[in-house]
Amino acid sequence: MIVTRFAPSPNGSLHLGHAYSAIVSHDLAREGGGRFLVRIEDIDGARSRPQLAAEFRADLAWLGLEWEEVTPQSLRTASYTAAARRLRDEGLLYPCRCTRAEIAAAARESGPDGPVYPGTCRGAAFDTGKPVAWRLDIAEALRRTGPLTWIDERGGEQRARPELAGDVVLVRKDADTPASYHLAATVDDAANGVTLVTRGMDLFGATHVHRLLQALLGLPVPIWHHHPLLLDESGKKLAKTRGSPSLADRRRAGEDGRALADALRAGSLPAGITLLAGLEDGA
Ligand SMILES: [Zn+2]
Repeated sequence: MIVTRFAPSPNGSLHLGHAYSAIVSHDLAREGGGRFLVRIEDIDGARSRPQLAAEFRADLAWLGLEWEEVTPQSLRTASYTAAARRLRDEGLLYPCRCTRAEIAAAARESGPDGPVYPGTCRGAAFDTGKPVAWRLDIAEALRRTGPLTWIDERGGEQRARPELAGDVVLVRKDADTPASYHLAATVDDAANGVTLVTRGMDLFGATHVHRLLQALLGLPVPIWHHHPLLLDESGKKLAKTRGSPSLADRRRAGEDGRALADALRAGSLPAGITLLAGLEDGA
């Protein structure tokens, strides 16, 4: 049975791009007679605003979607800690205390997550006591797993290239945010039984890392569907910060949510909004 999920973070309101993503996920599950899950990714301690989750539910119902809600990430942190401990015990993680600015200054390449971490702390002496982030040693991990592939529904078979992202953080430095997106999403997709991971093309690069984590943690491997992104008038990915009205704003203004959902399905987009269809462009 096909199982998809929509996994919003309650650190900002949902906008049209989220609506599109949720509809793609919902419809792929329904077309396959499967289940559509919603998972609240609320472990970004500093930015998470729990009251937004209730808004999200109202937004999704307004769009005419039906879903099953699974356990939010804030109640699942023991699972992320256990997964990280397993990788650390296997010698695949190393501590890093570099700041964002230090990494930006030292990085020579840019990857899907921004500047690629140049490996400054790999193999360095480790003095405990100060907060550290734990990074995945990608080269060592790949040496153990061997070459990996994954399937994107739109793009076909892909060779996993997690090295493009560099040694990503799996356990973050700030104690109130226990796991990085990569670790938490991968562990949860497996726990939730997700068989088709749907998300925007902007996360295509992250999938290389997630495929590697699945191999290291012995998790089942889903199929992915990276959908086109909605772009604003300046050609950038839609974001609340650039003034696109939130779904909650539209809902409260009395707009018909089901009609909006059908328009998005038909590719009939509001003025100024375009769809970036290319697989390569977003990768
Ligand atoms: Zn470092």
